[in-house]
Amino acid sequence: MQIENLPERWRRRIVVADTSFFFRGEDLGPCWNWQGWNNGGSGHGKTRVGGKAVYIYRAVRIFFGLPMPGVGDHLCENPPCCNPRHVEPVTIGENTRRGNAVLFQPVDPEEAARMQQWREDWGY
Ligand SMILES: [Zn+2]
Repeated sequence: MQIENLPERWRRRIVVADTSFFFRGEDLGPCWNWQGWNNGGSGHGKTRVGGKAVYIYRAVRIFFGLPMPGVGDHLCENPPCCNPRHVEPVTIGENTRRGNAVLFQPVDPEEAARMQQWREDWGY
């Protein structure tokens, strides 16, 4: 999961933080701060894949072939971050319990189908 492997159109909009983020004593690497389009309110970055808007943190995880069911919880609590190791897929209920209910959108069937299409397009 190297940032160098991301598509150029994403990589040039990401600024890597100077310091690592540690979670439960584990070094998860630095935040990848998305500098491109975001949705304004929550600060979560967005991009377009196949003409459709999607959160960049979702797109990056899917790009690397990581599971992204349910919703994403930013362990680093840094909305623009799209480091795939900083985003933990959780159920909607768990995300609500953690107090992030308004920040994340659930997967809808259309998005799920789209993600499957990306996996096929990208060879995952
Ligand atoms: Zn982060």
